[in-house]
Parts: sequence; structure tokens; C-alpha cells
Amino acid sequence: MFQTKMIELEEQLDCSKNHKQPIQMVILDKKLMREEHLLCSICLENFESDTKIIGFKKVLKMIQENQKNQVENIQRLIEFDVEMVEQFLNELHKLRSYFILLFDELLTNSQEWINSLNAIGQHNSNYSFFDELDKIIDGRIQNQFDQESIVNQITTLNNSLCSKINLQFSALKNQEIYSQCGSILINLNLNHHMKLIDNSIKQSSPCYAISFNQSGTLMVSAYNCDIKIWNFEQGKIGHTSTICCLQFSKLSNSFVSAGFDKSIRCWKQIKQNEWHSSLSYQLHTECIDCLLLNKSETQLVSGSRDKSIKIWKIDLVNNQLTYLYSLDKHTSSVWDLQLNSAEDTLVSCGNDKQIIIWKLNEMEKWQFGYVVIQSIQEVGSRLCFLNDDQFIWVTGNKVSKDCISTFELNNQQYQENLKKEVKLIQNSKDMEFNLFPIFKSKNKNLIIVKHKSYVYVIKVQKEGELKIITQLKYESNCILGALTDDGRYLVTWDNIGQKFTLYELLII
Ligand SMILES: [Zn+2]
Repeated sequence: MFQTKMIELEEQLDCSKNHKQPIQMVILDKKLMREEHLLCSICLENFESDTKIIGFKKVLKMIQENQKNQVENIQRLIEFDVEMVEQFLNELHKLRSYFILLFDELLTNSQEWINSLNAIGQHNSNYSFFDELDKIIDGRIQNQFDQESIVNQITTLNNSLCSKINLQFSALKNQEIYSQCGSILINLNLNHHMKLIDNSIKQSSPCYAISFNQSGTLMVSAYNCDIKIWNFEQGKIGHTSTICCLQFSKLSNSFVSAGFDKSIRCWKQIKQNEWHSSLSYQLHTECIDCLLLNKSETQLVSGSRDKSIKIWKIDLVNNQLTYLYSLDKHTSSVWDLQLNSAEDTLVSCGNDKQIIIWKLNEMEKWQFGYVVIQSIQEVGSRLCFLNDDQFIWVTGNKVSKDCISTFELNNQQYQENLKKEVKLIQNSKDMEFNLFPIFKSKNKNLIIVKHKSYVYVIKVQKEGELKIITQLKYESNCILGALTDDGRYLVTWDNIGQKFTLYELLII
């Protein structure tokens, strides 16, 4: 953890009149400069003004708390990189040991090569007195130097050692041994980068929901009364009121929309630019803020400000909905709903500060399970299952702990794991504006979490630890967005920029 450090020393701060006394109070007046804000006890005796003054210790504490938050953000941004560089170091150490071993062998082999050459020389220089004497007696004294035999011996030796050493050299040239280092470097290089691809599509009427189809070739966005299908070509179809949530089918080019008009509609692609709407199904009595399709796309779950969660049978082929039953346990607006991947647990949260677990009974019907006990008593804005044993919940109050909490299955009940809590950037000015669901990309182990005026790109690590990789800051808390299923493209819309911004996520 980095230490916050104030450049000025507290005891050296002096009032503008240089009384050399400890500072007692601070004047909050924009017109004053630096030390003019500071009042010591002597200054205070004669002080008279209408401007607001506050205790020096209190100001100091405010600044320190703010800095502590800042430093946590800095820490978080750097932590992930440090970890990767540590991995890189580790790989370098491994490479070094490997190289040392290889070079030791090379050196030994080369030295032995010399020894063997000398041995050939020495071996061929040995003679027997009696053999030589016989030669003199036989008159065979002339030089009978057998060059061919020696050359053969040398060539055999050289061949064998050359191939041995060549093998070791090719091991050094093998790209594979560097690949781990290479991929870490690529990751480090891309880490904080999201490539901005396009921000040219202006959309000035407020956008309330965005969704992509499975292949990422179609994007649906919803405005006050319109739904737009982006191909990125436009096709425009009507709706009667503001749409707050969209759920694209993963199996076909169909989607479901719902919103302020309390009704749900199914949409089916008929031709390239032609979409057919189903009847409008209106059983909720207030705005619908969340929709959820199961994997087989046979069941739709809707959550509303009327406090209820409704279960529907859905038939996207025939563009039909059939209302089944309602789950009523929340005492205020339902903001989000999520299913685990086994689809036997449904979790919901909302304005009543409750997280409710719903279980599927033997009759395949959802029923109330229990209210999850949590340490943070505030409105929950978003939920997401990271796996069957773990889901996350995002705070939503204006004055808030501003964090992501993790809940894990323990003795068949989800319990908060405080160690996995992730702090988000503190902001007590804006309340959460809740229309951007959490997006998850399984193949990239990424999640996109919108919170107040930030969009966070978060890596889900082993054991479900969350690491914020980067964050996008917006001018307002009214941000909409969607991630393609492959985790490659992120599109956002905000009400200040009033345009779509398309990013390519370069994180591997
Ligand atoms: Zn003074």
C-alpha cells in the first residue's frame, strides 16, 4: 500500500501574519490565497467575518480521508500491473536457470572436444620400441605417416560434437521458451488500453437500454418511444413508451423489451430490416427495470417497480408470452435479477435493500428461499453470478460505501465474503442511475460494471477475486452500455456526450 504524504509539515504551517502559532481554524473563502486561509489563536482573537470557517483539524481529516481514497484507487490501478511484472520476473528467472544449465553443458562439451582432439593426437604419438626396432631391422624406416586414419578420427569426433552442440543451440533458438514472457509483455502493453473505434454516431434523445445479439452483428438500442436496430444499419420500429430493458435472444435474432409502459414485448426478425412485435403484455403495474431469459429461452423473468417479480413462459418462435405467476417478497422496486448457470437459483435485489434468494422446487416452480444477510444496508443496484458458488452485488445509494460485494455459497447459503469486497471510486454527489446491467465475458474472464459516473473493466481471477483493470470516466451518471458476447467490443452512450462510443477491449 502506498503511503499518503502531505508535502507541507503540519507544524510548519503558519498563518499569513506569521504568528508562529499552531493553526486553529481555516477560512473557506475563494478570494483568499494559500496562508491567508489559516488562522492561529492570535488571529482568532481579532477575527471577524461572515465567511464560513471550520476547524483546522477537521479540514486536515477531510483531506486525509479523501487522499486515502485516492491512494486506494492508485493502488488498485497499479496492483494488477505489478502482479504481471512479477510473473514476468518469475519467467525470466526460469529462463535464466535454463540458460545457465544449457551454457554449462555447452562449455563442458566444448572443453571436452579440445581434450578429445588432444587425446587423438596423443594416442597417435605413442609407439612401441620393439615395433620400431623391427622396422629398422626390416629396412622400413621411412616415414609411414598415416594421415587418413588420423583425419578420420578427427572427423568422427567433430561430427559427433558439432551435432551435439547444434542441438543445444537450436534449443536456445526455440521460440517456445520465450512465449510465456512474450504473452505477459503483450498483456502489460495492452492492459490499460481500450481502443476507441468509433464515436461518430450521435444519438441525442436519451438512450435507456442497449443489447447485442449473440454474434455481435446486431445491436438494439432503446429511446423514449423507439427501438433502433443497428447493423450498424438502421431499422426503426415503434414502441409506446420509454424502454428500460432489453434482452436479446442468444439463439435467434429475437429480443424482448420492456419499460415505463409496464408492458413486455417480444420482437422477431422477419427480414433484413423488418421486425415484428408481439402483442404487448401488461401485467406489471409499474415500470419494468429488469428482464432475464433462461438459457433454453423458454422462461422470462421480469422485475418491476411494482415490487413484484413475474415469471413468464416465452415462445420466441411464435413471438408469444404466457404469464405464469408472481414472486412477491420485495417491499420496493426490483432493480436486478440474475440466474446461476445451473438455473436452480434466482437472486434479486432492489430499493428495499434486500438481496433475496429464490429456489426452484420439485414442481419446477420458483419459491422464496431466504434473505441474504449482508453488512451493507443500502439499495442494491446490480447483481451478477460469477459462477454457481459466487455472485456479486453493487451498491446503489447516493451516500454509499461505493463498492462491489461478493457472496459465496457456504453451508448451502450465500454469505458475504468481506475479503473480496472491491472499493469503487467514492462519489456522494451522484445517485446511481440504474440502467446498465453487469456484462460478463466468460472467455475473457471479464466483467463490465457501471457505477455512478464510471464504467469499470474488471478481470475475474482465480478464486473469483476481482481486479479492476481500467475505468472509463464519464461526465454524468447516466451511462448505458453493452458488451458483445465474445467480450471484444464495448459500446456506451451517455447523456452528456449524447453519442455511442465503441471500444475494442484489447485485454487478453
Ligand atoms: Zn496568526
